Amino acid sequence: MNIQVKHGSIQDAQADALIVNLFEGVEVPAGATGAVDQALGGAIGDLIRMGDFKGKLNQVAVLYTQGRLPAPRVIVVGLGAVADFHADRVRQAAASAARRARDLGATSIASTAHGAGTGQIDPSLAAQAVVEGTLLGLYEWNQHKSKKDGKAIIDSLTIVEFDASKLGAIEAGAKAGDVAGRAVNFARDLINQPANVLTPTALAQAAQERAAQAGLKCVVHDVDWMRAQGMGALLGVTQGSVQPPKFIELEHTGADGAPLVLVGKGITFDTGGISIKPAEGMEAMKGDMGGAAAVIAAMCAIAELNLPIHAVGLAPTCENMPSGTAYRPGDVLRAKNGKTIEIISTDAEGRLILADALSHAADFKPKAVIDLATLTSACVVALGENVAAGYFCNDDDLARRVESASQTTAEKLWRMPLYDEYRDKIRSDTGDVKNSGGRQGGVGGSAVFLEEFTDYPWAHWDIAGMVLDKLGHTALYPRTHPPHVIRGGTGFGVRALVELARRW
Ligand code: ZN
Ligand code: ZN
Repeated sequence: MNIQVKHGSIQDAQADALIVNLFEGVEVPAGATGAVDQALGGAIGDLIRMGDFKGKLNQVAVLYTQGRLPAPRVIVVGLGAVADFHADRVRQAAASAARRARDLGATSIASTAHGAGTGQIDPSLAAQAVVEGTLLGLYEWNQHKSKKDGKAIIDSLTIVEFDASKLGAIEAGAKAGDVAGRAVNFARDLINQPANVLTPTALAQAAQERAAQAGLKCVVHDVDWMRAQGMGALLGVTQGSVQPPKFIELEHTGADGAPLVLVGKGITFDTGGISIKPAEGMEAMKGDMGGAAAVIAAMCAIAELNLPIHAVGLAPTCENMPSGTAYRPGDVLRAKNGKTIEIISTDAEGRLILADALSHAADFKPKAVIDLATLTSACVVALGENVAAGYFCNDDDLARRVESASQTTAEKLWRMPLYDEYRDKIRSDTGDVKNSGGRQGGVGGSAVFLEEFTDYPWAHWDIAGMVLDKLGHTALYPRTHPPHVIRGGTGFGVRALVELARRW
């Protein structure tokens, strides 16, 4: 999408649809919305007076300009109450308006930076949220449909700002929103792609291509390298599959010093292995590489924005299959840091490939390490599906950074405890640790297991309940389902990682 910022009045913009906003309870529109209302002879005021438009969040009304403006249509979108306002409401409103514009057949839209006036949010953040909401809300996954549904494609978004003093901030925000929005949609593509197409080799190739475009260093290691590194846990998981495993390493050197290392679980399909999963719903396991997708996408965005940070991305990727060569319950594997792991469940494979990746992260002498993984159904039981991701952290300063970034991007993360009691549960009779401590406290057990392979400030995000959106726009919970989250892969975590890196 071509995204630009223009100085001027929104009512003069050339586009198939103009997008302006209203807060709930406003009786006389002001600012850009007021200017459009005047140009239309009070048509927006009429909508309000007649009670047809209340300004509720994501409420949309369409007006036709009948030659009074260069643009044929005006879309008015509600931002909700001023008291409840925050940047994610801009993202949501932009998505709602853009989706309606597309339904009407528009191919170009012009919008104000919602919230930069009355809403009193930073103009840069407002512009970023408008661009993100537009890109995320218009996302479509139809690569494997032989008949596309013929929806219009909006290929141009212009943000129009009247106040020249805000233009610089709005331009910077629009650029950041463009990079972040495209990164999330790239992660969504990877997650939505079925596992027969997105093999570990294909994931590595996609990372390499995208990294080249972003100006990001990318090295893909093969199985011989893993052997040389002593990554026995990763090698154990992959040994049941005919697909060769890959270890993707990305590096952005925007500054000197110890890096921030991001690690993502890249299981391209998780059958559970010999501890096989029930058949029902197993197709969702194509999304078990959502952590890797988020890390690869975030690293590309960090490079595109050329953030002044040293960042490394690590994504171990393989399949977890049952076969005559598959690893078994009872097997003992040795991870790169020398610790031995007794296998209780071959379905707890994510923590095994992360054990080697987290051990490898230590080689970079990191300032901090954050891993993202679709790790446990226990986390989904605890916090719910499409509600929040759970996170664990051994360092309060890092935890504060994680929370403030995720609050800004409205990607919910809830901190969980690293209690000693969980450590007792993963003690093994045969090896140093075992890869499952049982169902109860299963999410805590998975986190203290990972901690065994860290010796640095570390945070672990369990995104199992967030990687796929199952509600979409047939939303069961329409009041809370954001319109910029599309059914299928969500790209959860990408924006928060980029925000965290931006503030690093
Ligand atoms: Zn599993
Ligand atoms: Zn898994």
